[in-house]
Amino acid sequence: MTTKPLVIAHLFPDLLNLYADQGNILTLVKRCEWRSIPVKVVRVNSHHDFHLADYHLVLLGGGSDREQSLVGERLLSRREDMKAAVDSGLPILAVCGGYQLLGEYYELEDGTRVPGLSVLDLRTKAGRPRLIGNVAISSEECGSVVGFENHGGRTEHEHEAFGTVVSGHGNNGTDGKEGVRYKNIVGTYIHGPLLPKNPRVADFMLRLALCYSGLPAELTELDDSLEETAHQAFKTRKIGAVGGS
Ligand code: GLN
Repeated sequence: MTTKPLVIAHLFPDLLNLYADQGNILTLVKRCEWRSIPVKVVRVNSHHDFHLADYHLVLLGGGSDREQSLVGERLLSRREDMKAAVDSGLPILAVCGGYQLLGEYYELEDGTRVPGLSVLDLRTKAGRPRLIGNVAISSEECGSVVGFENHGGRTEHEHEAFGTVVSGHGNNGTDGKEGVRYKNIVGTYIHGPLLPKNPRVADFMLRLALCYSGLPAELTELDDSLEETAHQAFKTRKIGAVGGS
């Protein structure tokens, strides 16, 4: 009897693909394959239709203001079914621009507002300098999480944060929060890509997806020594923020 595959949707990789965020997809696929969990990736480019009911995990990557504006217009018509999917527990990993687009809007420097999905009660406003540099946070669910950030947007929200900033900027450089947690959504500003050197986050997302799919959610242990070495190397690297113009 063949087991149904875990279906991971990569939304708009043709537009939201900054800083190797597709490496998150590769990490999820490999961590399934190493455990003999059947997995299927659906690439949904911006001109494709998409069916959220077919997916067990959705990835939204980062993007420049221009690409986000194109995606924002595209998402307007999908607000209702995205909200219904989130309420039903669809796991979403949203990185930077993708994270911003889960909110009501992203306001650009010229005052233009890029519409978001409004599945989260959050808003983002572009500012200067850009918030750039290595970042480390402490997450209650995933422990130490490290990576790289580069965003002009300052995000404010009253949801639970993904983590608290240890070094770097986080959501807005002032409130010490990084990212967001809401139902089965993880939103974060952390690129890198995020998952290769944060295996606990990768497995956290896989457990959410497996539970949501009805497949067994027990994950066998993997040898993450290489991933942990990369994680520690990043942590010991001078983690500081370089404010760009
Ligand atoms: N364009 C958005 C900003 O500058 C998101 C950038 C990103 O995805 N890295 O804040």
